[in-house]
Amino acid sequence: MHFLSTYQRIISRLLLVSSLVVTGAMADEVVISPIEANTTSNNVPTVGPSRPTNIVIMIGDGMGPAYTTAYRYYKDNPETEEIEQTVFDRLLVGMASTYPASVSGYVTDSAASATALSTGVKSYNGAIAVDTEKRPLTTLMERAKALGLSTGVAVTSQVNHATPAAFLAHNESRSNYIDIAQAYLTTDADVILGGGQQYFTPTLLEQFTAKGYQHISELSQLDSVHHPKVLGLFADVQLPWGINDKKAHKLSHMTQKALDLLSQNKHGFVLLVEGSLIDWAGHSNDIATAMGEMDEFAAAIEVVEQFVRQSKDTLMVVTADHNTGGLSVGAHDKYEWHPEVLHKVQASPDVIATRAIAAEDWQTITATLLGFTPSEVEYTQLQTARMQGNEPFAIALRKLIDIQSNTGWTSGGHTAMDVQVFAAGPGARLFSGHQDNVDIANKMFSLLPQSVQTP
Ligand SMILES: [Zn+2]
Repeated sequence: MHFLSTYQRIISRLLLVSSLVVTGAMADEVVISPIEANTTSNNVPTVGPSRPTNIVIMIGDGMGPAYTTAYRYYKDNPETEEIEQTVFDRLLVGMASTYPASVSGYVTDSAASATALSTGVKSYNGAIAVDTEKRPLTTLMERAKALGLSTGVAVTSQVNHATPAAFLAHNESRSNYIDIAQAYLTTDADVILGGGQQYFTPTLLEQFTAKGYQHISELSQLDSVHHPKVLGLFADVQLPWGINDKKAHKLSHMTQKALDLLSQNKHGFVLLVEGSLIDWAGHSNDIATAMGEMDEFAAAIEVVEQFVRQSKDTLMVVTADHNTGGLSVGAHDKYEWHPEVLHKVQASPDVIATRAIAAEDWQTITATLLGFTPSEVEYTQLQTARMQGNEPFAIALRKLIDIQSNTGWTSGGHTAMDVQVFAAGPGARLFSGHQDNVDIANKMFSLLPQSVQTP
């Protein structure tokens, strides 16, 4: 089962403790009216219920601690002496280990980690909510549905990518995209927002419509959605990089809509929000694009933070599934990191490459979009890469940005580093200190209602 009875006892004791102390990392920012405030013998105020009505789990895919550190300096205002706090600094409560089932060693992939976070059980790399024997595991979303709550996902990858898939479906392999999309029909999820249009055939879309889903394909159509259920597929595969459209904040837009729609259920909801593409940028060792994706995710976290602050009965838990790329903030024996270089980069290196390859005067376009002028030697290296095509040219551009900003990487894959846990709202204290990724899921399971919520 999901948790042992001893675990439940520990949780109920912790819940008791958390009801005696200020709940949530941001509780001191919550204004407590004299009527709401209880006071213990220690004069510690308590805020709101100890069990949340709603749970929002937010996953920064690949967002190891170096990403949130880099993001702090990336967002720093150089005009002021102090280094400003980010939303991550504000909400930090603990750490989590991420290792998969022993059959897959110590370094997890997104599927095994999402399975751990959605079911509380470790499995093999590639598993979508199935155990090491490939048997389906009950997910947080399934339990929430069975209890009468609403459920939803809002992600920047295709909606049937590993992380959302492990919350909504069961499959022996994350690669079975078509099967996973098909399986979403039976999840009864109320809100499904992200990319992945190409995996949803017209026939499948008809089946969704027959089940009462409103299918939309433009982000602007979100405004016309007033009730669940909705299936919004805004790109063929993943959504465009945030760096190429800095003002759009697509993930925030989707997250806000998901909150609006799901909160129509007075019994509560469970929502998964994923900053999916932080990981993709990390795999490409692309620091400028990674910071753009961090910006997308941070803005979405702020939307949820605001909701938590207003609703007072919503728990938000933010974490990463693993660390990607072995990002290093400073490299090559130099005590320097230069985020100002990244602010000048006008487009993702893959877009710069496409545009520069198509242009006659590729050097000017490259320098303009990079925000700095490469040296003679660097131009020669870029020219060689340009002759080899788009991807080699994009790689050369990323390397140049790494040199200018003094950014380091140790891998094109994942690393086994622990990740951070951020939380606010009722029950947030449960997530403090060190834990394992399955503990995060088990704590969330324990916070769901204990019996079916009837209308
Ligand atoms: Zn990855």
